[in-house]
Amino acid sequence: MDCPFCQTHDTKVTDSRYVPEVNQIRRRRECLSCQERFTTYEISELNMPRIIKRDGTRVAFDEQRVRSGILRAIEKRPVTADQVDQAISGIFRSMRASGEKEIPSSQLGEFVMAELRKLDDVAYVRFASVYHQFQDLNAFMNEIQDLVKKRKRL
Ligand SMILES: [Zn+2]
Repeated sequence: MDCPFCQTHDTKVTDSRYVPEVNQIRRRRECLSCQERFTTYEISELNMPRIIKRDGTRVAFDEQRVRSGILRAIEKRPVTADQVDQAISGIFRSMRASGEKEIPSSQLGEFVMAELRKLDDVAYVRFASVYHQFQDLNAFMNEIQDLVKKRKRL
């Protein structure tokens, strides 16, 4: 967790409290470099929907797995560690917002792609092609053309 004041990575947790109303963990942190104190709110993994795998088995949501998938997709791309954290938070929010107790792994893949699409086109396409989310090559090409058009308008 980076210090919002001096951006150093060396921060320590001084207090941690679960806030059930919002299903978040509130952490008081202190920067070891500039001594500023700040609070972070992190979404609890408790009560996260379980993941239905393609073969029908159910597994717990694994943040580490999602994170490593994202890190593979952004390899050698201009994406910061903070942006990855934001993407993970976004995925947590989407999962919670689904209101489901269980969601298919393909749905989780969609959530990841939605976040990657905001971050980096190349990372998005890499991830999408690995996850075989596109029904066929045409759908895949359409998606890439949409991205190119979108960027040209900016
Ligand atoms: Zn600091």
